[in-house]
Amino acid sequence: MPPDCLFCRIVSGELPSAQVYSDESIVAIRDISPQAPTHLLLIPRKHIASAREVGPEDKGLISDVCALAAELAMRHGVAEDGYRLVINVGRNGGQTVDHLHVHMLGGRPMAWPPG
Ligand code: AMP
Ligand code: ZN
Repeated sequence: MPPDCLFCRIVSGELPSAQVYSDESIVAIRDISPQAPTHLLLIPRKHIASAREVGPEDKGLISDVCALAAELAMRHGVAEDGYRLVINVGRNGGQTVDHLHVHMLGGRPMAWPPG
C-alpha cells in the first residue's frame, strides 16, 4: 500500500472517517464534502489506483460494490427513489483521490449530462 494514499489510510483505520459499512474487502464511508443528502464512498480495501487499473484478478469486485450500494441504498432510504453510482477516472474524469472508489449519491434528483 502506498504510504501516502488517503483511502488506504482510511480503510486501515489509521485516519478517522464516518464509516457506515465494513467487510473484508470493502469499506463505505460518508463523503466529507457531500454533494447530495446521501453521499457515500464505497472503497475497496485493495489499493487500485483507478478504474483504469482494474484487472482480471479483480473479477467480482465491481459487482460486489454494486450489490453493496443496493444494500446501503435500502438502509439509507434512497433505494425506491433511486440513486447514482459514479466512478471518476483520471484528470478529465474528475478523480482527486488515486484509490478506486465508487460514489453513491441519493436523496435528490440528479441532472444529466453531468458537468
Ligand atoms: P474523486 O474526486 O472521485 O476522487 O472523489 C474523492 C472524494 O473523496 C471527494 O468527493 C472528496 O470529498 C472525498 N474525500 C476527500 N477526503 C475525504 C475524507 N478524509 N473523508 C471522506 N471523504 C473524503
Ligand atoms: Zn490506496
